[in-house]
Amino acid sequence: MDFRDDVNLDASQVQDTGGRGGGGFPGGSGGMVIGGGGVVTLIAFIVLALLNNAGGEPEPAQRQPPANLAQQCRTGKDADQSEKCQVVGVVNSIQDYWKTELPEYTLAKTVLYSGGVRTACGAADSSVGPFYCPGDQRVYLDLTFFDQLRSQFGAQGGPFAQAYVIAHEYGHHVQNLLGGLEGGSSVATELQADCYAGAWTKNAYEGGFYEKQFTDADIAQALDAAAAVGDDRIQRRSGGRVDPESFTHGSSKQRVAAFQRGYDTGDPDRCAPAGLV
Ligand SMILES: [Zn+2]
Repeated sequence: MDFRDDVNLDASQVQDTGGRGGGGFPGGSGGMVIGGGGVVTLIAFIVLALLNNAGGEPEPAQRQPPANLAQQCRTGKDADQSEKCQVVGVVNSIQDYWKTELPEYTLAKTVLYSGGVRTACGAADSSVGPFYCPGDQRVYLDLTFFDQLRSQFGAQGGPFAQAYVIAHEYGHHVQNLLGGLEGGSSVATELQADCYAGAWTKNAYEGGFYEKQFTDADIAQALDAAAAVGDDRIQRRSGGRVDPESFTHGSSKQRVAAFQRGYDTGDPDRCAPAGLV
């Protein structure tokens, strides 16, 4: 999924906070405080990450200064060469799509963090995966998540799996703008976000950020990631019994089908939650 070398990136859509700043979080137990009326939507694997982390010492965070993305990520060529610039390229493409698709769309920043981050939805540390916070309308991303996707969840990983995860989180931003998150997160809203990710995937090439149409191999990576983070798969891997009552993201099969619906139709209007659950 190469970016076009000469396409200009808008690095202001992504903010790098660098490593954990002074202070850290009290407790450091891997907890997530949900407050301020915000609904936090998290990828389901977090549940497992929290369980795995319980009682363990948090990994010592690297203290890195924030990257100057405006300087480092100017064009698609930069996006092909650095992971952070690749995130900028993906975020730019996703938001470019939604701006044309949805008149009421407003830009939402992605915040890259490592170690810990404070949000309007509470404090999060590294064990928390990618999430969207409606309270401050930002997507939060710790890049080590993508290593975990491979090692803990058995996904093949790869750049397109990463793009899918980011597109899913922006799907929650779209839901927030449309009032769809008012009842909180549910299987239906999660599947709709997957469907939105599929719709972007179908239309991304038209936006001019990418060199070529996505290939079947790219799509396979996304579907593989979607399947890997299905709740049934996660519960099996964590040794738990599969209990549909506790599903929050949908089964692997449902998630793949939801992504596929968006991809096949290329039309977010076909992503009504009622048709996906
Ligand atoms: Zn989600």
